[in-house]
This record gives sequence, structure tokens and C-alpha cells, in this order.
Amino acid sequence: MPATAAPVSRKYPPALNFVAGRFVAGGGSLLEVLNPSDGAPLSQVTLSSAPDLDAAVRAAQEALPAWSARPIKERVQVFYRYRSLLERDFAALAALITEEHGKTRAEAEAEIAKAIELTEFACSLPQIVTGEVLEVSRGVECRTDRHPVGVVASIVPFNFPSMVPHWTIPNAIALGNCLVLKPSEQVPLSAGRIAELLTEAGLPAGVFNVVHGGREVVEAICDHPGIAAVTFVGSTRVAQLVYRRGTANLKRVLALGGAKNHLLVLPDADLEMTSSNVVASMSGCTGQRCMAASVMVAVGGTDHIVRRVVEHARAVVPGQNLGPVISQEARDRIERYVREAEQAGATVLLDGRSTVVPGREGGFYVGPTVLDHVRPDMAIAREEVFGPVLAIVRAKNVDQALAIENASSYGNAAAVFTESGGLARYVTERAGAGMIGVNVGVPVPREPFSFGGWNDSKFGVGDITGHGSIEFWTRTKKTTTKWNRDAGTNWMS
Ligand code: NAD
Repeated sequence: MPATAAPVSRKYPPALNFVAGRFVAGGGSLLEVLNPSDGAPLSQVTLSSAPDLDAAVRAAQEALPAWSARPIKERVQVFYRYRSLLERDFAALAALITEEHGKTRAEAEAEIAKAIELTEFACSLPQIVTGEVLEVSRGVECRTDRHPVGVVASIVPFNFPSMVPHWTIPNAIALGNCLVLKPSEQVPLSAGRIAELLTEAGLPAGVFNVVHGGREVVEAICDHPGIAAVTFVGSTRVAQLVYRRGTANLKRVLALGGAKNHLLVLPDADLEMTSSNVVASMSGCTGQRCMAASVMVAVGGTDHIVRRVVEHARAVVPGQNLGPVISQEARDRIERYVREAEQAGATVLLDGRSTVVPGREGGFYVGPTVLDHVRPDMAIAREEVFGPVLAIVRAKNVDQALAIENASSYGNAAAVFTESGGLARYVTERAGAGMIGVNVGVPVPREPFSFGGWNDSKFGVGDITGHGSIEFWTRTKKTTTKWNRDAGTNWMS
């Protein structure tokens, strides 16, 4: 008799697409979704294709006239209600993130707290997006007001299953657009809860849609003539593909890419604040943040800070206050960077390779890893590692440290640690990144400030959150009016 494989048991049914207010199966094959903490099957996700996307775009097109015609004050009422639903379900939403992504409970809760803050900004949009009006000649008035772009799409990465979708969903929709979300196929579950809660909050069917999948559906988004604007958040390689393909199809595109963030540590920096911040930045969310510290440039006599960084890093324990990385593939990549750096002459001060968490032997864990005397030309100093790994590069002075930072092809974040205001200013003026920290290791601009990097960390104009996003999600209409017959005519009107 042929052997039959044991049935696979999964905690959740397959993640479905959400189109026109209903969960529907996509037409493609199913991909396994694993819990990164133990490697066990958790769910499955549809790899959608162009017809699945087309159904979502048609639903959004149908919903658009009624939704965009509502005054913005009415549209944001949905997000006031949605915000309280996020609070009501706070613990359960965070728990789902921990299951699908692996991050710790505290990190998952921070993600929901940030989703709430992003929703609050959308609620404030009616106070911000008032138009302009001016009498430009006697009796002649010019006026600008904002209109939605239309049907838009948001493609998101695995590292924040809820926060990054909230970078775009509340603002785009409150500003009158209808949206198709393409979650990461590695963490597809939170998107379903977002759809359910938006529906419970009163969002009409078709305004928000979810299409799961990978490369094929992303390419279909870039090509679909019904989609007017696309945001992308993910690696630089794919950001470039999406930016090129979307703009070639004459769409508005904002594509955020990867990062290689440098923290410049000066000898006068406060020992405790600096070392604890550096370690929190390199190990928080297991280093899988585009704002994570990746290179510490230790300037001059900073051995005492390096020693303290290693002590703090030792207190970060896999399976306790450090989650797994997303996959075995990610773990292999991270360990390869460390191995090659060591072979090239870097000193491993703390080694997180081959980490096994008892009871979770199938989990994808990498412990905190600190390497000293890394040279700027090594791959570990130039490329995105995306794990709990800190490469320490030594510099003689601030100008040499800045030259190392400026040479990076990325430009998401940079930070300086010092007690000198003058030196801090010198560095913030010269660092080649879009988001700068002074004694802050993860300098995320909080609402209403906008999030977005420079160079290979962002392609397109504007930023993805806060004030910067308003321009992206709207187009202005300029109206010139004359009702006064006595106004006469001049060269313009
Ligand atoms: P990724 O680029 O592999 O995937 C991002 C999205 O693109 C996913 O939805 C995925 O399905 C899709 N995709 C993957 N390969 C594709 C291809 N060949 N063609 C078309 N689509 C494709 O990124 P990831 O691994 O999910 O996320 C980690 C990356 O995201 C890191 O590089 C990180 O720095 C970056 N990130 C950047 C920011 C930022 O603000 N700049 C924020 C978060 C994450």
C-alpha cells in the first residue's frame, strides 16, 4: 500500500483576498505560512494573479464615485470608529503579529500603538487639507482644493505586518481614494483583521481591498491601467523594479527601499544612554527594521562604549526579549555575512550564530552579534544584513566617520551620539540620510512629521506618512472665478 502523508495541521485557514467587502479565494496556488518562532505551519496564502487583482480594481472603481463624493469630515468618521476598534482588540491584534512574524509581545504592541497614531493623523486631515483662496485681480478669485487620485495600491513588506499598511491605508482612504493592499506573502494574516475592523467601523464595500501574492501580482499592479498611484515599501532591489515599471506605465509611484543606518558614536557620548540605545536599535525587532542600527562608527577613544555595548547586547536573549528572524533563508543570509566578515578579518565580540532556543528548535533564531574592526569595504558594512548584527567600524575623527556614512548607497537614517551640541549640529548637517537622530538610535519621525529616506532608500517625490503623504494621495484643482461684471479684463482674466 502506498504511504499517505500525515495531514498538516495549521492554526488558521488560508488567508483570503478581500474584494468588494467579502473574503474570496484567489485563483493561484497556495503558499505555506510558517510561524518563525517554531517553524510550524500556521496558515497558507493565495498567490494571486492578474485576474484576481482585476476583480479588486473593479470593486474599487465601483466604490470610488460615492466614497470620493463624501466630504472629508464624513469620511474620517470611519477612522474615529476604527481607532477605537484597534484599542478594543489591541491585545489580540498584537498576538496575531507575534504569531505570523515572531516579534516579541512588546514589539507587536508597539506596532499596534503606532497603527493607532497613524489613524489619529488621518482623523486630523480635515483640519489640515483646507484649500487656498485669493482675490488675484479686482473681482477675480483663484482657489485650489484637493481631490483624490482615484484607485491606488499599497505594496508592503514582511517586517511590520500592521504598522506599514497603516502608513498608507488611513491617509489614502480618508483623502478619498479607494485602495488595494498587497501584503507580504510571509505575513498575510494581519491584513484580514484590518479588513474586518474597517468593515466593522463602517467603511463601504470596495473602498479597501486586499490581494495576496508575490511577484506576479505586484507586476500586475504596476501594469494595471485602472490603478493611478502605487506605494511600495520593501527592499531596494524590488523598489527599483516597482518604481521603473509603475512610472513606465505613467503611474504616480513612491517606492521606499532598504537601509544601512550608521550611528556615529563620539568619545564624549553618555555611556549608558548611548550603549543602551545602540543595542536597542540593532536588536529591536531582531534587527528587521529599516531604521535599525547596522553600522556603529566608533570615533576616537570609544573602547569603553564598545565594551558596554557588548554587555548590553549579552542581555538580549533569543526566545525571551529577542524574536526569531522571518525564515531559515534569512537566518542563512545573516550568518553568511558574519562568517565572511570574520574570514575577512573582523573580530567577533559576540556571536549569535547557531542559536537554538530550547523547546523551539524549529525556530529561526539568530542571537545578538557584535563585530569590531569591520572595514568599510566589507560586505557586512555596505549591504543590508537585516538581522540583530552590529558592525563596528573605527574612525579617527568626525570627518572620517562622516565620509564612511556618506559613502553608503542607502540613506534612510543616521544618528550621532555626543554631549556636544556643536558636534551634533555638524553631523546632522552633513549626514547623507533622510532621518537623523541626535542621541536617538531609531529616529522615526512621529506624526505629523513624515517618514522617508534618501538615495537608494526611497524613489519618488514626497514622503509616505504625515504631511508629506498628502501631496501623494491627492491632486489639486485650481479654479479661477469672476462673477463681478465690473471687474473688467486685464492681461490674465
Ligand atoms: P521585499 O522587497 O522582498 O518584499 C516587499 C514586497 O515586494 C512584498 O510584498 C513582496 O511580495 C514583493 N516582492 C518580493 N519580490 C518581488 C519581485 N521580485 N517582484 C515584485 N514584487 C516582489 O522586502 P521584504 O523582505 O518583505 O522586507 C524587508 C525589506 O523592506 C528590507 O530591505 C527593509 O529595509 C525594507 N523596508 C523599508 C522600509 C522603509 O521605510 N524604507 C520600511 C520597512 C521595510
